Amino acid sequence: MRVLVVEDEKKTASFIRKALQAEGFVVDVSHTGDDALAAASTTNFDGIILDIMLPGRDGLSVLRQLRQQKNSTPVLLLSARGEVNERVDGLNAGADDYLPKPFVIAELVARIRALGRRGSETKSTVLRLADLTLDTIAHEARRKTLRIELTSREYLLLEFLLRSAGRICSRMAILEKVWNYDFDPGSNLVDVYIKRVREKIDGDFESKLLHTVRGIGYVMKETP
Ligand code: CA
Repeated sequence: MRVLVVEDEKKTASFIRKALQAEGFVVDVSHTGDDALAAASTTNFDGIILDIMLPGRDGLSVLRQLRQQKNSTPVLLLSARGEVNERVDGLNAGADDYLPKPFVIAELVARIRALGRRGSETKSTVLRLADLTLDTIAHEARRKTLRIELTSREYLLLEFLLRSAGRICSRMAILEKVWNYDFDPGSNLVDVYIKRVREKIDGDFESKLLHTVRGIGYVMKETP
């Protein structure tokens, strides 16, 4: 998911950016309303986190402008005060969600993820690589029409690899994202699971999608 964070307070903006990046989001930051509008007109975001209190053009004005331009990117408004009126104004102006400051960062992350999901129901619930599909709602993998049974951990591994398709995933990154480890347990856990997933998705098929990059990690890609 690609998210635009619009916040003039640099510390807050950087705090949000880091938290989202740690969760695997791609994050752009704008410090003014005009920058945000420029960014939103050239980039297709999955969600926008928009602070109301901005110097110059404020968040509500940015939101109205976006909707006027028929930009329907899901918007989560942030407000320093959390007043009821502001919330109502925001929702009337076309916001999809609203979070008063101070907020717990985990809640912000959860809400923006939910928004992105809602906003792109048709485009990103199914991850695709060649004839492999992974339905991230039903947790169902298929190659062509053949259903592939995965355990929940195998599913998480395949989802992470597919979301990173074309990019090399190190063992450490896999341990962090799939097992929530922030240390290397020094076992061959990742290799064992990679082997299982590979047998399931590539085993019977001529074109292989899951590749080992020796000494570095793994990558999912189509080979010509
Ligand atoms: Ca602000």
